[in-house]
This record gives sequence, C-alpha cells and structure tokens, in this order.
Amino acid sequence: MPNNLTSCDLHVHLAGSFYAEDLLAIGAPIFREVDWNARGFLDGYNAALQTDLNPIQLFAEALENPEIGFPKLKDAYVFGVEDGGDFEKFMWKYRLFTQLWGYGWERDRETAVSMITQAVEHHKRHGLNYVEYRAGFWGEDAELRRKMQICTETLAAESDGHFTARYIVALPRDDPWTMYQAVRQLLAEQPHLAQTLVGVDFASHEEGYSPKLFRDIFQQIRRDNAADPAQQLSIVYHVGETFFDKSLESAVRWCHEAALLGAKRLGHCIALGLDPAVAVSRRPQAHEAELVSERLDQIAYDLRHAKGLRQVGVAVDEQQLRAEQKSLGNLKKDDLVERPYTPQRFQEIRQRQDFALHQLTQLGTVIECCPTSNLRIGGVPDAAHHPVHKLLASPVNLCLCTDDPGTFDISLASEVEWVLQHTSFDPDELAQRLGTPCRFAL
Ligand SMILES: [Zn+2]
Repeated sequence: MPNNLTSCDLHVHLAGSFYAEDLLAIGAPIFREVDWNARGFLDGYNAALQTDLNPIQLFAEALENPEIGFPKLKDAYVFGVEDGGDFEKFMWKYRLFTQLWGYGWERDRETAVSMITQAVEHHKRHGLNYVEYRAGFWGEDAELRRKMQICTETLAAESDGHFTARYIVALPRDDPWTMYQAVRQLLAEQPHLAQTLVGVDFASHEEGYSPKLFRDIFQQIRRDNAADPAQQLSIVYHVGETFFDKSLESAVRWCHEAALLGAKRLGHCIALGLDPAVAVSRRPQAHEAELVSERLDQIAYDLRHAKGLRQVGVAVDEQQLRAEQKSLGNLKKDDLVERPYTPQRFQEIRQRQDFALHQLTQLGTVIECCPTSNLRIGGVPDAAHHPVHKLLASPVNLCLCTDDPGTFDISLASEVEWVLQHTSFDPDELAQRLGTPCRFAL
C-alpha cells in the first residue's frame, strides 16, 4: 500500500469522522441527558429508516452488554451499502451523532474538546499524519467565534511532529457572509490561529446555488488575503456532487466555473467523471429540464469557450445559440426548458468533460475524489461507472479522500484499496499517477 496516499486526507468533515466506537465513548457520559426528540430527530429517523429507535436503550445496552449491544448501535449509526444510496437515510443516521455533537457543544468547552480529540486520535491510530478537518458552527456572532476558536485550538493542540491537523471552516451556501465575517474577526483578534485555520469550504446543499452567486465573496476573500498576507484563507468548494436540478452540460460547467472563481480544490466533481448515459439513467427524465436562467448561462459559456469546445469536438453553432438566446429572452428566468438527450449529445457531453478536466489541469485546480461517499450518497450506481475511472485517465490533479469516514465506517487506506481493486492501477502506478497528496494541502 503506497504510504503517501494513505497518510494525508484533504476532504474530511469533522462531524463525519466519528466511528461507532467514538459515538459510544462520547455518548457514554451524556446519552441520558440528551433530548433525543430535539429538532424532530426521533420521528424523522424512525420514518426514514422504518424502525423504532430507542437511543437511551441502545447506548445503555452497548455499554452494559457490548457483545450484543455494540453491533446494534453500530447498525443504527453506520451508513452502509445496504442503505442503498438513500440520502435521506444518510442524513438521519448522521444525525444520530449530531444530536450528541450539538448537545456536547452546548454543554461546556471540556465536552467539545474531548469530542474533537476523540475523532483526531482515531485518525492517528489509522496512521494518518495530515488531515484537514471541515466544520461549520451555529449560533450568534460571538458564539460562532467561540466555537471556531475552540475547534482551532483543539486541532492545534493535537498537532505535533508526527501529526498535523488543520481547520477549514464550512460556509453555508444560503448565507456564507455571516460565517465568513466571523472567521475574519476571529483571526483579527487571535492572529496566531491562522496557522491552523487555513481555509473556507462551500458545502451543504449544492442544487440551486450556482457558483456565480459566490463571485462577490470570492473577490472579498482575495482582497482580504491581499490586505493581510499573514492570514491567508484558501477556498475549497463542493461541486458536481448532486446535480439533478440541471442539464449535464450545466453540471459540467459549474465545476469549471468554481475553478475559474479561484477555488483551490473541488470536492467530488462526479459531473466530470460520470458517463452522461449513466447519469440520465438514474431517474426518469433526469437532467432534461433546467431553469431558463441556467440555459442562458450555458449559452453564454458556450459562446465564450466556443474555440476550446470545438477543439475537443463539440459542435458550437454560434448563430443558432444566439437565436436560442433571443427566444429564451421572452420567457421568465424561472421557467423550465426541457431538452431530451440523444446519443450525439451524450458524446458531446463526454467531450465537454474532457474540456473542463483540461481547463482544471491548466488552472492547477485539484479534484478531491471520495470513492465510497460517491457510491453511497453521490448517486453513482456502481464501481464500474465510478467517476474515478475518467478522473484517473485524465491529467487533472487528483487526490483520494474519505469525506465522512466514521459515518461510512471506512478509512483512507480502505478507499485507496478500493481504487486498486476496481481499477487496473497497481500500487506503484497509482502512487505515480496521484503523486504526494500533501502538495495540495492548504
Ligand atoms: Zn464533503
């Protein structure tokens, strides 16, 4: 196993890093205090999983009679293959932990610190030596800063000569500014935290949030970085993971646009590697309809990149595009346009993927590929059609990551092993293709 590839994880959500054992250790002192009905957890979990969860009994039994109780707890928590790629189920299983996580953060600093430490120590036992953790927080301004400070300080304290932990703040796409301003204020007040708090991530719901909506905040981040080079914040960005709201051309374009905005690494980019014929087979009429505004953005993109698209074989008829632009001008921006797929269109989408991958390569943008996550929550139907095959065959900068290793009960080593098993690469070839992932660290 190439050691380089299994020791550095660049796409990890802190709240997804807790394994069933960690859940039990964190839950042990507090599971009787937690309000399991808060935020509709029990009703939601039971409806989605069609079960009758009793968290207090589950924890009590796992502690008193681990041989029988622990597998039950694990089964209630881990999101596995048998859960069938159902994102709703994933969210409810994930929340079994976040009920504890949320309670722990409100309880006191000591509990919050011990929870983070629990996850990091587990990563150390897996032989990792560099991890960038993503986490977002909730609350009013001062509360946000307090939580981010605890998170940063705890990760800094976990770092030593053998292990380095970094923190990336997750900005919610529906309101990234509040969180971003809190980060900048925190760094202004506590400049030493900049050594550990190194970036921001655009995460959570992707559909409906075009990269162009974030042009202003990307610009602001660049300006703020220039104004204070000691407090550089790099940007990573989840894109091309869930894209049923639009055409496959637009899904490919979003990945390219996020790179053009200046994101250093892109999370997932399934849209650049999943074959279009497979993508549309996932649901009836998948990707046929999109907003007029989205189609107009696509036309503008095609006109702007006509030369490059033609070079990879896409037929760009400028006259026809301008005519379409004109006729769409008579419709409302939030009307839908429907365009069914043909074999030729599939072929051109494959060429568009090649074009975007080539552009990302030129820009130096990195794609973080999370194999199991894509299979279990990213709508990738099977190993043979995994985007990793096309991504590996392209020249793009690529790293393998775990996303939510605890929730999926996987490790970085098992992800690398999965790739070796399902591709024709042997360990040396894979190490050669990917290089040292740490060169992409923020
Ligand atoms: Zn992620």
